[in-house]
Amino acid sequence: MQLLEFIDTEADRKVILKEYRSLLKSCNPTLSKEDRKQVRMAFEMAAEAHKEMRRKSGEPYILHPIAVAKIVAKEIGLGPTAIICALLHDTVEDTELTIDDIKFNFGAKVAEIIDGLTKISSVFDLKSSFQAENFRKLLLTLAKDVRVILIKIADRLHNMRTMDSMPRHKQLKIASETMYLYAPLAHRLGLYAIKSELEDLSMKYTEREVYRDIARKLQQTKRERSRYINEFVKPLNTELERQGFSARIFGRPKSIFSIYNKMKKKNVDFEEVYDLFAIRVVIDSPPHKEKADCWRVYSIVTDYYQPNPQRLRDWISTPKANGYESLHTTVMGPKGRWVEVQIRTERMDEVAERGYAAHWKYKEGSNDIGLDGWLRRIRELLKNPESNALDFMDDFKLNLFTKEIYVFTPNGDLKILPVNATALDFAYEIHTDIGNHCIGAKVNHKLVPISHQLNNGDQVEIITSKKQKPNEDWLNFVITSRARSKIKHSVKELRRKVAMQGKEMLERKFKTLKVDFTHENLHQLVEYFDVNSTLDLYYRIAAKKVNLTEIRALKGPHRNIVLPEDKAKPVEQQIDVDKVKHTIKQNEELLIFGESSKKINYQFAKCCNPIPGDDVFGFITVNGAIKIHRTNCPNAISLMSNYGYRVVKARWTQAEQLAFLTGLKITGLDDVGVMNRITNVISGELRLNIRSISINSTDGIFEGDFMVYVNDTQELERLIARLKELKGISAVARFDVEDNSKG
Ligand code: MN
Repeated sequence: MQLLEFIDTEADRKVILKEYRSLLKSCNPTLSKEDRKQVRMAFEMAAEAHKEMRRKSGEPYILHPIAVAKIVAKEIGLGPTAIICALLHDTVEDTELTIDDIKFNFGAKVAEIIDGLTKISSVFDLKSSFQAENFRKLLLTLAKDVRVILIKIADRLHNMRTMDSMPRHKQLKIASETMYLYAPLAHRLGLYAIKSELEDLSMKYTEREVYRDIARKLQQTKRERSRYINEFVKPLNTELERQGFSARIFGRPKSIFSIYNKMKKKNVDFEEVYDLFAIRVVIDSPPHKEKADCWRVYSIVTDYYQPNPQRLRDWISTPKANGYESLHTTVMGPKGRWVEVQIRTERMDEVAERGYAAHWKYKEGSNDIGLDGWLRRIRELLKNPESNALDFMDDFKLNLFTKEIYVFTPNGDLKILPVNATALDFAYEIHTDIGNHCIGAKVNHKLVPISHQLNNGDQVEIITSKKQKPNEDWLNFVITSRARSKIKHSVKELRRKVAMQGKEMLERKFKTLKVDFTHENLHQLVEYFDVNSTLDLYYRIAAKKVNLTEIRALKGPHRNIVLPEDKAKPVEQQIDVDKVKHTIKQNEELLIFGESSKKINYQFAKCCNPIPGDDVFGFITVNGAIKIHRTNCPNAISLMSNYGYRVVKARWTQAEQLAFLTGLKITGLDDVGVMNRITNVISGELRLNIRSISINSTDGIFEGDFMVYVNDTQELERLIARLKELKGISAVARFDVEDNSKG
C-alpha cells in the first residue's frame, strides 16, 4: 500500500513527504516509538482531511500544518503532544473532522488544546467589543495550557512568512494584528527570536519602503561589518582559548524593526545608528559555574576593550520575568565605536532564543516567579467577573508591554513590577488587604505617599491602617492590572453598601408619599435625575447628591409618582420624527431660506454658529424643532451616530441679506494700536458688526475672541485674509463656541 494514496498527484505527494521527513528531523531524537506512531497518525489524518484544500499560493494545504509543527518542534522546542496538535490545528475548524474524532484518536489532552485553538481562531475577526471578549477567551485557554498560545504563535509566524500571495488589505490587517498582539505575547513568553521575526515581517508589510530601504543598506554594509566583527573578536578568541573556555563568539545583526525604532527615537539616519549588531559570547559551562564563568568572560572582554559603566546589565543574578538570563555590556571597540557584548552560557542562550518551553526543560518543577507568576496573575484577572471585557483588555495590555523593575520587601524578597509602579501597586502585589488598607510606605527607610513611584532596587515597607478604604482616585496612580482590578472591585463594593443605605432612604420617602416602590416609579426617577441605573440613583441619594424633596406630587389612586413639570425628562418616543420629516416636503432635504423652510421652525445651533456656505445638517430636537449644525461641529459626530434617524440633510439656498454670528480668535503682538487696526478692518473697511470682544494679554502676546456678524463664508474668508495681513497679527481662526447642549 502506498503512503498517502489519497493524494492525487505524484508531485504533491513528493513535496508533502519531503516536508514531513524534514519535520521528523526537527523533532527531538529522543521521541519514543509510541510518540512517533502518534505523530505519524496525526500527519496522515490531517493530510487526508485537508486533501482537497490548497493555500493561496497554490501549494497543498497540509504543508502549512507541517510547517507549523516544525516551528513548534525546532524553534520553540516543544514535545510530541504539541507537534501532534500543530499538525491537527486547522482540522476541526476547516474540515469534516470533529473534536470527538480527535479525542477518540489522540486522547483528552490533545482534544482540549485543539479545542482551544479552534475557539480562538477568530479573535480579531469581530467588532472591538467582541474582540475583547474573544481575547478574554483566548487567555482563559492560555491559562489552562500555554501550549495553545505557543502553537497559535507558530501558526501566525508561518502565515506571516508566507503572506505574499494574500491581497494587500489582508496583509495589512494580519500584519497589524501581529504587531498589536502576537509580537508582545511572544516577547512575554520569552520567544525573542520569534518576536523579532514577527516584528520584522509585520513591518515588511506595513512600512514597505522603509523596510526595503533598511534591508538593502544592511546588505550593502555587510562586508564592512563582518570585517569589523572579525577584528573585534580575534583577540578575545585567543584569550578565551588560552584560559580553557570552549566558546562561540559571533556578531548578531539587530532586527530591521529595532534599527528602524532607533532611527525614529533618536531621529537619525541609518548611517548614524552605531549598534547595527551585537557581539555574543556563548560559553559551555556546568550549571554550578555558570555565573562565575560569565563574569570571567566579562573580565576578559573588558581587559581588551574599555566598558561603558552605565551600560552594564546583569540579568544573570536577577533574570527577567520572562526567564531571560544574560550579561550585557557596551564597550569601546576598534575605531572608537561602541559595541554591545552579550555574555551567556549555552543553556541561557537556548532559553533566550526559544523561550520558556526550553526553559522548562532545564528547570522542571522549579518554582520561579517569571511565567508562573504571570499566568497566576492572568488567572486572577480572569476570575474577577466584575471587570468588563474592554477594561480587562486594557488592564491586560498594560502588563504585556511594560518594562520591569525589581524591588524588595523588608525581608529581602524580590518582587517584579512594571516600570512606573507605585508604592500602592507594591502593596497590592503583596496582598489585597495590604493594598486596601495602605496609607503610605517607607522606601529605603524614608516615608513616602502611596502614590510614590518606585525605582529599581528600592526596598519597600508598606504602612497600613484599619481605617483606610480604597477610593476611585487611587486608579489614577496604580498601573498593575492586579491593583487596578482589586481597587475597582472594592470601590464597587463600597458603592454598593452606600447605595443600599440610599435605597432604604428612598423606600422611607416613598412610604411617606404613599407611593409604591415599583419598577416604573424607580425608572421615572432614574430618568428625571439623569442617572445611569437604580444603583446609581440609590448611591446619589445616600451621598446627598440628589435632592429627594424634589419628589412630591402624587397621582390619584395609582400610587404613582409625579415629578415637577419643568424638569421632567421628555421621552424620546414623543418626537414625531416622521411628521417633521414629512413636513420637509418629502424633499429629504431641508432648504434653509428656501420655500420649505418657511413652514419649518428652525434655529442655528449655538455650539457651532453655522453661516451660509458652511456644510450643514438639520437635527430634529425633542420639541420637534430643527437646529442647524455645521457638519464639522464638535457635537455632530455624536448626534449623527447616536440619533441618525433625527438628522435631516440641509442645504443653503440663495442667501438673503441676513447676518450670522461667528467667532474669531485673533492672536498677535500686544503693541499700541493693534486693537485699533483690527476694529478698523472689521467695522470700518468691511462694515461688519461686532457683537463682543474679549481680550487676554500676557507677556506681550494678546489673544482676542471677537464675535462678529457676517453674511456668508465668503465674507468671512475675506475678513480672515484681511486680518492676517495686519501688522503684528500672528493667527486668525474661526472658533466653535463651547456649548454642549445637544439639539
Ligand atoms: Mn493555521
